Amino acid sequence: MIKLLMLILLGFVGYSMILGIIRPKEKRGGKIPRNRSRDGEKMVEDPQCGTFLPISDAIAAKVNGQEHFFCSKKCLKEFKKAQ
Ligand SMILES: [Zn+2]
Repeated sequence: MIKLLMLILLGFVGYSMILGIIRPKEKRGGKIPRNRSRDGEKMVEDPQCGTFLPISDAIAAKVNGQEHFFCSKKCLKEFKKAQ
């Protein structure tokens, strides 16, 4: 009977250890977007193709006096052409 209790206890400890291993990984994965937003990385929308991208990766350009952000020079060109 004691052996059975020990087995259950070991099983419980092993199970919680496995959960403990899995959980931090999930937390790490969940923290990535949070860290990005904490860095003050503003997301901007490319008006040409509708892509959202971090402001640091975007190409800023003034079109008709309004500032727009583009994912690529190609989008900037096409957007200017369409104006
Ligand atoms: Zn684009």
